[in-house]
Amino acid sequence: MPTLTDLVTYCDQRTRRAAYKDAPGAFNGLQLANDGRVSKIGAAVDAGVVPFQKAVAAGIDFLIVHHGMYWDMPRPLTGPAYTRVATLLHANCALYSNHLPLDGHPELGNNALLARQLGLQPSRPFLVRDGEAIGNIAESRLTRAAIRRKLESLYPRVIAIEYGSAAPKAVAFCSGSGYSAVPELLASGVDTLITGELREDCFNRAQEEKLNLYLCGHYATEVHGVKALAAELSKKFKLPWEFIGTENPF
Ligand SMILES: [Zn+2]
Repeated sequence: MPTLTDLVTYCDQRTRRAAYKDAPGAFNGLQLANDGRVSKIGAAVDAGVVPFQKAVAAGIDFLIVHHGMYWDMPRPLTGPAYTRVATLLHANCALYSNHLPLDGHPELGNNALLARQLGLQPSRPFLVRDGEAIGNIAESRLTRAAIRRKLESLYPRVIAIEYGSAAPKAVAFCSGSGYSAVPELLASGVDTLITGELREDCFNRAQEEKLNLYLCGHYATEVHGVKALAAELSKKFKLPWEFIGTENPF
């Protein structure tokens, strides 16, 4: 049986975890250990009491999440924070969190997988932070209408704000929150962004700067990376894996 250390080392190296600076509270990597043995891998987007309860009920003892437990830590382990940790500890379930590395990875990253869902190949970096690209740009021959149709077939809720070109030559991808990506579009030579969520003021910006903005859901655009990493681990270490979904509509 593979050990916890085997899995953590593989995830850290495969995602180049240490290369990304990330937010101070992200604490990418192993956030909670278990007794050292792993028999089933899980993948979820968010840390939370309910996903943790579902994971342990499914027999998972190594859970990968995109949004980990520590964004606003340190805080006392009381109330829901206690319940999160207690749920995992009592079930001997380790927690491994991986945020920006799993957005930017060229094969396992949310943005590479978003591009491939549209049949596009990422060709240049987008949203470079501390030397690492989080998003990507793909050349495209798809019309705007085709992009919208495809997204609407893949995602339950799509908001389409279409003031850019009807046949964009390139498309930018930024999973999750795309607010910081919008000001970088035109400078990157692209007028079309596929992202998870934006803020209200982006509508006027789209009109003024002639942009196409497609919002497919923060959660929905970030299921891909954790699933891809869990599936790869499952194959490599010959362990079962399961995605723990929630009804997060954002
Ligand atoms: Zn996110």
